[in-house]
Amino acid sequence: MTKQIVFAITLLITLGVFTYTIRRLISYFRFTRAAFPVKDIGKRINVMLSVAFGQKKIFRKPVIGLFHALVFWGFCVILIGSIEMVIDGLTGTDKILQFLGPVYNVIMASGDIFALVVAISIIIFLARRLFFHISRFEGIEMKRISHIDANIALTIILLLMVSLLAMNTGYVEYKTLTGEPVAGVYPVSNILAKWFGGGQADTYRIVFEASWWSHILLIFLFANILPYSKHFHVFLSVPNVFLSRLDPLGKLPNMDNITREVKLMLDPETAFAAAESDAPVERFGVKDAEDASWKNYFDSLACTQCGRCTSVCPANITGKKLSHRKIMMDLRARMKEKGPLMVRNGRDFTDNKSLLRDYISEEELWACTTCNACANECPININHPTLIVDMRRYLVLEEASAPGELKTVFNNIENNGAPWQYSAEDRLDWAKDLEININ
Ligand code: SF4
Ligand code: SF4
Repeated sequence: MTKQIVFAITLLITLGVFTYTIRRLISYFRFTRAAFPVKDIGKRINVMLSVAFGQKKIFRKPVIGLFHALVFWGFCVILIGSIEMVIDGLTGTDKILQFLGPVYNVIMASGDIFALVVAISIIIFLARRLFFHISRFEGIEMKRISHIDANIALTIILLLMVSLLAMNTGYVEYKTLTGEPVAGVYPVSNILAKWFGGGQADTYRIVFEASWWSHILLIFLFANILPYSKHFHVFLSVPNVFLSRLDPLGKLPNMDNITREVKLMLDPETAFAAAESDAPVERFGVKDAEDASWKNYFDSLACTQCGRCTSVCPANITGKKLSHRKIMMDLRARMKEKGPLMVRNGRDFTDNKSLLRDYISEEELWACTTCNACANECPININHPTLIVDMRRYLVLEEASAPGELKTVFNNIENNGAPWQYSAEDRLDWAKDLEININ
């Protein structure tokens, strides 16, 4: 009973802290703008199955992709065992799901094997980060704290797998020594039990109990660290893929407020009414975090900081300042900074800073070719260029700020109805001396 009470209190504290953090992050969504409607559910489920659960994009790098996919699938299987531990902890039962019989054996055996596979994969990931200095993990946005964050999360996952194997090994050996039936099948832990066997039954009982507590406490700790870490994608990558933009990558969304303005102006009656209205003028494009759409913000929370987008970006590869991973990290950081201030003082609050310029420079934004290589590569279907284009739209529409070459194009379009420096009447001058009938 004491164990149940202690467990229930620990679980309550964990859920309390987790709920507080998540509520805070969710509260910032109300400041963001609308994005596309979430429809085509069948299509979304297909995308989720292939990109998130099938890890389709991850396999573009076959070797390291396989390890990542194994970790993901391992998490899915081990999650079932973790749920069982929570029920056991609350009710005082011992392996409550064993009534599933053969299915239970398969789940436990898979979890036991995956624990070893995930542990090996995590050691490889840590070695890559610590000793091999993979260029994808570097960049101006990857501060020391970003690396520490990744290494802490990986270390916790490694400890989770070690404690799971120790728990299973202690359980198998304790049950074997006391002659009690073993619930489930544990191929890896059976081997470990043979290696480390030979002690007293009570010793293995202590190993089991200690590992049980270590494992569950690490899960609780991990769950509360994740929202502050790049590893938040453990929770958010699947929903983010489900909420992917389904339009073709190259299609840029229209600006609803511009469309509305144009329609108003085309109708003289509504044009006058709109001109006299006191309604606040909407912002065109994105200047600060609250101008971004809810999807942009969700993307920034889900971003794994893997750098795949930046590694294929032609602008970045040719030495420009643009890194899309940085843009995602900047949006997340800016919302983290301004979100609490807007909660206290309202959406119109200004701290005289903005995402544009204080975080992301104009130089970065204009370096983007909108080629969409980044969006094509992102393993969780983040559509990067939409945010970049919306920030450029703000610069052009509200500040008339654009590189000189573009200003010439804009002037030509305004004056000549075409991007060139000729009036419409002169457009066919080039064909004057040609002996062809142009009528
Ligand atoms: S935006 Fe996508 S590809 Fe880029 S770092 Fe984030 S998760 Fe990786
Ligand atoms: S769309 Fe822009 S950010 Fe993305 S890869 Fe192309 S140039 Fe880079």
